[in-house]
Amino acid sequence: MFSRLPKLPADPLLGLIGLYRDDTNPNKVDLGVGVYRDEQGHTAIMTSVQKAQQIHLETEDSKTYIGPVGVPGFVNGIKSLVLGAQAQAVTDGRIAAIQTPGGCGALRVAAEFIHRLDKDMTVWVSDPTWANHVPLIRSAGLEIKSYPYFDAATGDVDYEKMDQQLAQLGPKDVVLLHGCCHNPTGADLSFEHWQRITERANQQGFLPFVDIAYQGLGDGLDDDVKGVRWLSENVKEMIIATSCSKNFGLYRERTGCLMVQAENKQQAEAMQTQVQDLARANYSMSPAYGGFLVDTILHNDALRAEWQQELANMATRVKALRAGLLEQINAQGIDKDFSFITRQKGMFSYLGINPEQVKRMREEFSIYMADSSRVNIAGLNTHCLEYVASSLKKVCG
Ligand code: PMP
Repeated sequence: MFSRLPKLPADPLLGLIGLYRDDTNPNKVDLGVGVYRDEQGHTAIMTSVQKAQQIHLETEDSKTYIGPVGVPGFVNGIKSLVLGAQAQAVTDGRIAAIQTPGGCGALRVAAEFIHRLDKDMTVWVSDPTWANHVPLIRSAGLEIKSYPYFDAATGDVDYEKMDQQLAQLGPKDVVLLHGCCHNPTGADLSFEHWQRITERANQQGFLPFVDIAYQGLGDGLDDDVKGVRWLSENVKEMIIATSCSKNFGLYRERTGCLMVQAENKQQAEAMQTQVQDLARANYSMSPAYGGFLVDTILHNDALRAEWQQELANMATRVKALRAGLLEQINAQGIDKDFSFITRQKGMFSYLGINPEQVKRMREEFSIYMADSSRVNIAGLNTHCLEYVASSLKKVCG
């Protein structure tokens, strides 16, 4: 029976991992996989997380199931982290929320929730968007379309084009937005764009759906979610999927949160039963460990301050690498304008070189990146900037 199903092609990004591993060039640089790395190329456990692990080890006294919500202190902590401790929607009890297995778990449950609302809904994603959005949403049975977003000529968002599309949407549409640090392009919406999206959502009646996987890795914990908070304060209903993979470095602990903002408390209570029911049908309940760690960090003043400092250091490092790379590129006198590198936010940028040039970067210079030319800026270090820039010069002319 199993012969009916073919072997699937390998994931191209995972293929790069193998190629990089086997490359013997001592100057090789891995800009492919999207995890944060330090100057030594290591994805270390944050010290605040290590301390929370120790506390958890000493205090956990049972492995019995946690409830369907997940770790309550985690869920409440994330609501405040994203929407603000004083957010009206939070204090009014308008947010239904569950802990989920990573941001992917939140996105998947959200997609099923949308399907349950109306199976004929269309989810609109940015062009381009994070590759995994497509299978996560499509597997729930929803149609996906894309709205114009990235302007390859400038490396910024083409908001007027995006807006033209949003102006044509209606109540059967859901618009998926990246909360900050757009993956894969690094081109973020400005606060004014968020205000205009909010107006459009209220005019046209589409449902905003925010995926936020990099809070704190752009301009700071509060600045990164300024637009999301505006949206939340000014629309009745929306969905938010968050991830603690990057900002707490909890990748393998699968720690995320799904929030559904309803019009009033009564509806939020009803939506709470819906998302819990969907989680139950998928995986029963979320793994708890990462939620315990985040709860411990967010509700302990000293640990929270330490975590915020570590996260700020990560963001500062990425910004410094952006500035350093641009400086080296300018020093090489490359014709192409790369100034977008320092305007873009978070870990990713599209270098805007073509697949042939990407291939040459890999084959001739052992610099690995996705075919789209998406690079993980955190994969750079101060020692390789000149090498990457001079290789780009050779490839771009
Ligand atoms: N959304 C975006 C845009 C992402 O880049 C990621 C992580 N790569 C996620 C969601 C979810 O990640 P995870 O499931 O690992 O928490």
